[in-house]
Order: sequence, then C-alpha cells, then structure tokens
Amino acid sequence: MRNIVLFGPPGSGKGTQATNIINKFGFIHLSTGDMLRAEIAGQTKLGLEAKTLMDRGDLVPDEVVIGMIENKLDSNKDAKGFVFDGFPRTVKQAEALDKLLELRTIPILKVLSLKVSEEELTRRILERGKTSGRADDQNEEIVKNRVVEYRTKTAPLANYYAAQHKLAEIAGEGSVDEIFEALCFQINNL
Ligand code: AMP
Repeated sequence: MRNIVLFGPPGSGKGTQATNIINKFGFIHLSTGDMLRAEIAGQTKLGLEAKTLMDRGDLVPDEVVIGMIENKLDSNKDAKGFVFDGFPRTVKQAEALDKLLELRTIPILKVLSLKVSEEELTRRILERGKTSGRADDQNEEIVKNRVVEYRTKTAPLANYYAAQHKLAEIAGEGSVDEIFEALCFQINNL
C-alpha cells in the first residue's frame, strides 16, 4: 500500500494535486478539511462545533480529526494507497497517525512537502475565495490566521518526518502540470 502525506500550508495546492494523484493512481483521498465541511453541511453536532473554529481559521481539536481518520482507514481496507491531505497538522496528530498505521502495518512511505511563499498563499486563497464559497477563504485576517496556525503548529512536522527520512520537498510555484510531474516522479519511485 502506497501511503503518502501531501504536506504544505493552506493554498499550497494540496487539494488540487491530491485530485490529480487520485485520478492517476487510484488511491483514496483523505482530506480532513473536506470531512469537516461534510459534517457542517450535514449539520451534525461535530460539524456545528467545528464550524466556529474553522470560520476563525483555528485548528479543530486533535481528537476530532484523529477519530475521523481512524474511521476512514477502517472503511477502506482494500485501498491501494491513501493520500493524506491537510492531516496531520500537529505533532500529536502525526504521532497518532503513526500508531494507527503501525497497528494496521500500512506505513507512510513519503511526505511530499509543497513549498510556496506566504505572499503567494494569501493571494491564491483570496482568489479561490471568489468561487469556493468558503468563508475562511474570503477574509484576509482569517487567511493570515490560518497561515500563522500552519507556521506555529504544522510546519514543525517537517522535522518530525525528516527525522524518519520520509520528507521530500517540491517547489509548489510552477504550473499545476509541472508540480504534478514532480509529485508523480516521487510516487513512481516508492
Ligand atoms: P483545509 O480544507 O485543509 O484548509 O482545512 C480547513 C479548516 O479545517 C482548517 O482551517 C481547520 O480549521 C480545519 N482542519 C482541517 N484539517 C484539520 C486538522 N488535521 N487538524 C485540525 N484542524 C483541521
């Protein structure tokens, strides 16, 4: 099973490239952001609680997203591979994911880190906000908070995965096709 983490700040292209990877390799896409938005759309208790935090650009509690990921792993036992997108976002989530995968003997093979400058991220997200319908994509202060959440809580994960010799950095500022090609090169080498 070829499991990879797509790693990078909000607006770095994880969602776009996850879709490309899923279409080419037939892996299962696990996006905690998408799962949370589905909970909000379904007006579940979890969704309503998460919405307040998401609308501010804050992270939701680790236990919530870890639980969602565990359910998805178990309901996709025949997967050829998983693409984790927007998860893990904290060291606690990364440690929990390692434990979940160890129990199922399906390790992460590679963490593909998309590198994009902070100015470019804000520009891209506000542009996306014109059509995404996402409140957290439309307000510059909220976008900046999401980037700060990334810088303080998520970016340190790069060291966590570098220590496991799994981290590969990919330039995230070319064309979508060029970046996809660089990602495919890494995945084909797994
Ligand atoms: P995303 O679609 O990945 O940009 O996520 C949108 C929002 O959902 C984030 O700003 C967080 O509020 C929440 N979220 C998504 N994934 C996670 C996660 N792994 N841990 C905590 N919060 C998350």
